[in-house]
Formats: sequence, structure tokens, C-alpha cells
Amino acid sequence: MRLLAILAAAAAPAFSEWLAGAARADLTPPEPVWMAGYGSRTKPMEGVRRKIWAKALALRDSAGATSVLVTLDLCDIDRHSAARIAERARGLGIPRERLILNTSHTHSGPIFGPPDNYLFLMGPDPAIHSAAIARYTSFAETRIGDAIAEAVKALRPATVRFGQGFAGFAVNRRRVWKRELPGPVDHDVPVLEARGSDGRPIAVAVGYACHSTVLSDYRINGDWPGYFQESLESAYPGAVALFVQGAGADANPLPRRTEEIARRYGETLTAAAAEVLSGKMRPLSGPLRAVLEYVELGFQVPSRAQLEETARSKDSSAARHAKGLLAKLDRDGKLPPSHPYPVQAWNFGGMTMLALGGEVVADYALRFKGRYGWDSTWIAGYSNDVFAYIPSLRVLREGGYEGATAMQWDGHAGPFQEDVEEKIAAKVEEVVRKAR
Ligand SMILES: [Zn+2]
Repeated sequence: MRLLAILAAAAAPAFSEWLAGAARADLTPPEPVWMAGYGSRTKPMEGVRRKIWAKALALRDSAGATSVLVTLDLCDIDRHSAARIAERARGLGIPRERLILNTSHTHSGPIFGPPDNYLFLMGPDPAIHSAAIARYTSFAETRIGDAIAEAVKALRPATVRFGQGFAGFAVNRRRVWKRELPGPVDHDVPVLEARGSDGRPIAVAVGYACHSTVLSDYRINGDWPGYFQESLESAYPGAVALFVQGAGADANPLPRRTEEIARRYGETLTAAAAEVLSGKMRPLSGPLRAVLEYVELGFQVPSRAQLEETARSKDSSAARHAKGLLAKLDRDGKLPPSHPYPVQAWNFGGMTMLALGGEVVADYALRFKGRYGWDSTWIAGYSNDVFAYIPSLRVLREGGYEGATAMQWDGHAGPFQEDVEEKIAAKVEEVVRKAR
């Protein structure tokens, strides 16, 4: 009996519960386009500092279900691009809930999707720039689909492990606005490794929660997550490095603004991941359960009279936003009162990866890790539909950029209603329960 148990334990590593495959596709714009993220730019990109990438990690469990984690060196992704990419993935046998589309939020990437929120920056002839952005969007969607297809084609027997470390360069940036504010940050570094049964690495996916805003010029690059992926891939030859952006909406990498600093943060994250990879990681078993649902988040929609008053305001950003909403009101007869918010959970081997839409503040990561397990919960933000900042109730009430005025940039008739946090938490509870 005892001998049998020992034999069974010794035989265990040879049994591969998973098939894993990884691939990448080059997303570097083939022609100059307007860049995403900053409202201070006055012209399109001027060259490429580093290439940007789509990365895909496909995992097939022993039940035969295939799930694909896609990470993108892009500022954001909207629900329409996500739907088109998901449609292609569906053709490969991957249902929507088994596809996570996460963006690194690089502010040195091209605009991907509708350029509406940037048009006012583009001078007298925005149509020229919109046309280039439309061409880029279609190019990138195709390339992202290609990466998914290639990752599925590359599936081979593998083991999957998980662990977490720490890195400290994310700073709560609301304290830059008001130094007296509380400064919650999520400094966890979750690491998922897929290694072939032959011992060769397939992919390493690493998370961190922080804006990708070190660099701010006109040359395309992945910011510090781009440098992270390059440095991890040179430290682990053969592995595809994926960067998963977390709930970093209220975090900036500080200090910032030089290429050397971007590189240093990338290498810092690689060092944190390397510590985890060389330590004791938890093998994750299947099956992988996946759930994706939506909850409508309501806006505090202003009246026409309020908008007309704001449109006359000296605050040029508020006035521009109000004028945009008035035009929408004239055109459509009403303003969208809410937006469908995507909440996605993958649960496997006792680890839950929660992929949330929008720019999610740290309060959510800390709340959900507290509720679902500090050692076993991975919070990704910037996933599936990055349409607005998602403040907690605290941040909403404090106001400022992430709490309120970012809506002027995102173009919604906001801010959110005060039930935003509880609505998301209730949906997360439901989705996590179904995925367990
Ligand atoms: Zn942002």
C-alpha cells in the first residue's frame, strides 16, 4: 500500500494534465497613426522605439476545454473590437468566457478602436487620422486573431504553476494630486508558468497593477511592460512573456519619463518574477472553469439645462465634454444611462483569475483579494472593454480625475452612480461562485 502510494507520487510529474501553447504577433503600426493615452499630443507617432506585441497563451484542460489568455501592448480595447476578436476565437472552438483580452495600457501605443475621444486633438482635418486608425484597428484585430490561432496550434503537454511575489514601483498617484489622501496600491506580482513536459518553458504570464506612463513622446513602445517582456524573454529563452495589467487605475510608476527608468521598472518586474519562478510554486490542476457576465453600471446623467450651463463654463475640458453630450442628445434624443460592465472569472487548481473591464482602482483588488484569498486571487483590470475609470465609492466621493473628471475624457454622461462599487462586488460574487 505504502509502496503503491510512493510509486503513484513518483509517476505524477509524467502525467500532463494540460496542453499549453503560446504565440505572439507583431502589433507595431505599419504606417503612422495617432497615439493613445495622453491628451497633450499634437501630432501622430514619429517612429518606433520598440516593437509592440499581442501575446496569447492557450491552455487546454483534461476535459478538452481550451482557454486563451491574450495580453496586448495597447492602451485599451473597446467592446466592439473585443467582440470581433472573440468571434474569430469562437471559430477555433473557444467560447467567449474562455477568452481574456487584457491590455497593458501603454500610453506609447497607437489608438486602437474608435478615435472619438481623441478627435478634438487632431486639428482641422481629423478624418485623415481617423482613417489611418480604422486601418490600424482592422490590422491589429487580424493579428490578435492570428496569435490566438497560433497558440492553439502550438498546444503540447505541459504543467502549469502559480506563485506570487512583490514589486514596489507603483505609487498611488492620487497622492500626487492631494498628498493627504490614503494611498492604497496592489504591489503583488502574480506569476503563472506553463512548462512543457519536456522541461522547456512555454510561457510566463506576470501581473502588476500600475499605469504604463513612464514615457510620453512620439515613438511607439510598450512602456515598462514592454521592457519587462523583453527582459523576461531574454532571461528565459523559449518562453513567451505575457504582461497582465492589474487594478492600477490610481497608480503611476514614479519617478518616470526616461527610457532608462522604463527599462529599469521592466527589469524590476522580471527580477520579482524570477524570485517566484525559482521558489516554491503551486502546481495548478484542471479543469479550468470560466464565467463571463455583465452588470449595467448607471451614470449620474446631467439634464439638458445642466449641460447647457456647463457648456458655457470657463473650464475648457468640462465645456467641451458638455458640448459633446449636447450634440449626442440632439442626435439620439437621449444619453446612454448605463454601460454593460464585463466581469470574468477563471478558476483552476484553486486559483481565481478575475478579469474586470475598465480602469479599475486598487480598492477593488484589495477588497476582492481579502474576500476570495490573498494567496489565490489574481485581479486583472483593463480587460475586455476599457471604456472608463472604475472608481470605488471612496474614490467616487473624493472626486478628482479617477473619481469624476476622467469621464470628460472618456465621453460618458457621468460620473457613475454611488452604487458602482456594490454593483460590481455583487456581480463578482456571483461570477466567482459560478466559476468555483
Ligand atoms: Zn489610464
